[in-house]
Amino acid sequence: MNSNKIHFFIWTQIFFSALFFSCSGPALKSNPENNPGYLAISGDSVLSLAVKLSSEQFAGRETGSAEYDSAAVLVQKKLKNAGLTPFLNSWYHPFSVKISYPDQDSSFLLTGQKNLKYGTDYTPFYQDHKVNYTYQGELIFDGYGSRESGIQASELLNSPVKNKWVLLAPGFPSGNKKPRFSDPGGLITKLTAYQTLGAAGILMLPDSALNSEFEERSRYLTSNQYELSDDTVSFPGFRSLPVFVLSEAAGKHLADDLYGNENNLSLLIKKGAVLPKAVRSLSIQTSLRLKTKEVSISNLIGMVPGKNKDELILVGAHLDHLGKNSDGTIYSGADDNASGVSVVAELARTFQIAAKAGIQPEKTIVFAIFNGEEKGLLGSSALAGQLNESGIKITAMVNLDMVGRENQDSIEIVGHNRFSTRFKKLIESLDGKAGLTLNQNLNKPGLTGDVFYRSDHYPFSLRDIPVLFLTDAMGENHNRNSQTDDYHRLSDTGDKLNKVKLERVTRLCFLILSKLSEEKTPFKSDLSY
Ligand SMILES: [Zn+2]
Repeated sequence: MNSNKIHFFIWTQIFFSALFFSCSGPALKSNPENNPGYLAISGDSVLSLAVKLSSEQFAGRETGSAEYDSAAVLVQKKLKNAGLTPFLNSWYHPFSVKISYPDQDSSFLLTGQKNLKYGTDYTPFYQDHKVNYTYQGELIFDGYGSRESGIQASELLNSPVKNKWVLLAPGFPSGNKKPRFSDPGGLITKLTAYQTLGAAGILMLPDSALNSEFEERSRYLTSNQYELSDDTVSFPGFRSLPVFVLSEAAGKHLADDLYGNENNLSLLIKKGAVLPKAVRSLSIQTSLRLKTKEVSISNLIGMVPGKNKDELILVGAHLDHLGKNSDGTIYSGADDNASGVSVVAELARTFQIAAKAGIQPEKTIVFAIFNGEEKGLLGSSALAGQLNESGIKITAMVNLDMVGRENQDSIEIVGHNRFSTRFKKLIESLDGKAGLTLNQNLNKPGLTGDVFYRSDHYPFSLRDIPVLFLTDAMGENHNRNSQTDDYHRLSDTGDKLNKVKLERVTRLCFLILSKLSEEKTPFKSDLSY
């Protein structure tokens, strides 16, 4: 059937269901699947917007780019044409960010090694706030640096690593179970320990995981750095310790020089090699950030007013992506996250259809299109802070990030079991609805690279709001469906999006938001994590 017949069909649907609704209110309430909005959901509508947003026209939608702004205008027009209301009388909600330009004029010299080039031979491990530092002294090799037990007071006093740069080997003592990030011997524990021991910095020899992330991490951390001008979201303490990762080549060169291969190292440690020991002298001269400037960027937000104007349900997705790579090739960002934005736009359109048909939601539903997610959850952090300061109460937050790929019969749910048992039960009661099984493969505590911390629901969870994160987990999925892992790759293109999946995710979210809207009392925190 072509489109005209479709419109005629939808309007007869709406007319009859509105007729049906007016005479059977309670029945519809109990079954939102008869809601005219739900019936109007169209996979074609979601897919066509997602393909458009991931087209060359929007050049990868990098935050701060003209192409990002025109993509936002396209979505805003969709929300406006659907009849939505601008949130707090404005579509655009600005916030200020600080952009820092890393200075490439850094030198990192290890004795016996060539001058290591910033971004090529080594990269920062995470974004730290220190700008300039120099170091002239010993590089202390401390094996895996893993600590079974806490730090002995005696160590604190005369730790051989105090004010020294420490070199760590990848991994953990052989035979030991791979520690999770925050376990004893885990990376976070290690870095916090060296921070406590007063180390000046950490240099990490890479393992396969670090090697696979080197290019992405280097590209991200050696390019312009963005942070909220007034960042109220605090990061864990060890972040003030400079941590660098060597590239595979530079790492292999040094490792071969120090102990040959992995087995040798384990043998060295097994044989009780006296560690930590000075292995090289090191001179570092880095001045990472010279200039910063402040710019104002915006989130795009609309709403469908509810009967109860004081309680809001927030559903959101980030629009920004990576833009272009160094040779100008575009990162389309179809699944990440044109898919999520298109589902949010379709939810907005269909809840408005329901409202027009006289089915106003109990609570106001707010549709947020976030900016700056790829730069560090900037837009969602800003909105969470702005709403918190204005005392506006958010009942719950639903985040969609990468929902158009992988298995079309299931979706991953994350974070819904971290706040309220009632919220958890409500979400899990929809398992199997809209043709989707709710999987929880990524919803386990302490997973390396835990996705719970890596998308726009996280800043809201930090403000004690129950959150649900929906994702197809393309980059994380061990038994993934797609032939390729296109996460943050040039190959994340519109032709790979799955229309059936997109429609099902939209239908599932419609049911979730309808149920949340019906909840009589706020969710109380009775679950910790
Ligand atoms: Zn994303």
